[in-house]
Amino acid sequence: MSDNTGAFHKRPTTGDPNPWDSNGDANIYSHSNKLPKTNSNQTPSNTHIVSLSSDDSDDSGESDESEDEIKPSSLSKLYKVKRINDEYILPDIPKHLIEDAKEYLRGDGIEEFLEKYLVSDPTASDLLYIVCLLGFNDFKIPSNSFKDDTALFYDALKLLQNAANKVLNSRPRLKEIDSFEKTVEIIDKAKKIIVLTGAGVSTSLGIPDFRSDKGIYSIIKDLPLDDPQDLFSLPYFRQDPEVFYSSAYLVLPPVGLYTPFHAFLKQLEVRGKLLRNYTQNIDNLEANAGIDPSKFIQCHGSFATASCQTCKRRIDGKRIFKYIQNKELPVCPKCSAERKRRFEKNPDYQPRSFGLMKPDITFFGEDLPERYHTNIFKDISECDLLITVGTSLKVSPISDIVNKIPRDIPQILINKDLVDHAVFDSSILGYCDQAAVCIAKRLGWNLDHSDFKKISNSGLTVSNVDQENGIYTIKDAEELQKDKLENS
Ligand SMILES: [Zn+2]
Repeated sequence: MSDNTGAFHKRPTTGDPNPWDSNGDANIYSHSNKLPKTNSNQTPSNTHIVSLSSDDSDDSGESDESEDEIKPSSLSKLYKVKRINDEYILPDIPKHLIEDAKEYLRGDGIEEFLEKYLVSDPTASDLLYIVCLLGFNDFKIPSNSFKDDTALFYDALKLLQNAANKVLNSRPRLKEIDSFEKTVEIIDKAKKIIVLTGAGVSTSLGIPDFRSDKGIYSIIKDLPLDDPQDLFSLPYFRQDPEVFYSSAYLVLPPVGLYTPFHAFLKQLEVRGKLLRNYTQNIDNLEANAGIDPSKFIQCHGSFATASCQTCKRRIDGKRIFKYIQNKELPVCPKCSAERKRRFEKNPDYQPRSFGLMKPDITFFGEDLPERYHTNIFKDISECDLLITVGTSLKVSPISDIVNKIPRDIPQILINKDLVDHAVFDSSILGYCDQAAVCIAKRLGWNLDHSDFKKISNSGLTVSNVDQENGIYTIKDAEELQKDKLENS
């Protein structure tokens, strides 16, 4: 099974969204509060709680009271954590309330914060509400704890402590980066940029990601594996290499192709701005784009090379591509005769991976490439800008890098969706290629890619979604037209 050193493990704290606790919550219904209509509507599961407040009647009409006027402690009634049997149902707390709570915690400390936000005599649910209020809704309670309220309470307390520590240790947003123009200016001035990349920078070439609905793990869910991630487990590979080679073609990268985003990375290198690209991708598109191998680190390895599992001989990864495409086992030329002899003599007592080549992608149970360890700390101390692109930052070690960067170094996100568990000064939401082209255009750069002109002329528009939190979208004319039709 997977361990915590491999490339594809989930964060240890990650769990499926848990449903919630109503146990012992009646006491907090006693306070009445004026609640904005919009909130009671957007959290249907909480409607019954709202109706218990005696003076909600004047909110059923047109109340223009702002949420700022609600007492923080009474928010816990609006966005309640509910327990249903052995599961918790988490509330959907608006982002601005989460930001307010985090700012209060950072500014006033944990004691004042709990005084303000936590009800007296809290239950496990009340504690978990605070965890959610601090922006964490992706945690797991051990199923055993549900048998014992005290255990549950202490689990919730631990989660709260971790959440508060994470917030206290996370960087505050640099508020001077207050526009898209300013974001572009920061890129223009930077000289030592670390770029973290994930699957999102490669999906435009049809390379599937791992975790989305259409990702690899979803595609291979019917394979005879306990967990789809075992496809990249070293013990499983040794036991049954056929399983890996039956599906490896799905992750085989295209030869020679790269995306407009990779052309942007190359521009950063050409202009002497790229300190290093740390990528989670195994597709080797960085090399295809002509980026110098010293300027990128493939944290999870890549298909660029393959190694014999027995004699460790390393070859050009492309030499086993045709085996992968044909779903055949690539045998090491040096070990081939010995493999044959062993399997003819005593097939039941041989490691099935004897003398087989494996692409040098990092499996569970394998350490990260040495270059990662030798460069990361120095790079973190030297960089003057961090750009995170096409990743939801759920996998270590990339996910840990953002929190290690000195607090005064600007951080920019370019991604399809927001990443809530990290703090970015500027979050540019949209397709990575479009964002790359848009930024390049503003900087007056040409990208060496056949799609550069086409994307350039697609009517790219930047919109301020939430200027206060530095959130922008980039859309082309077609997407804007689609939005318009949907909203009409
Ligand atoms: Zn060999």
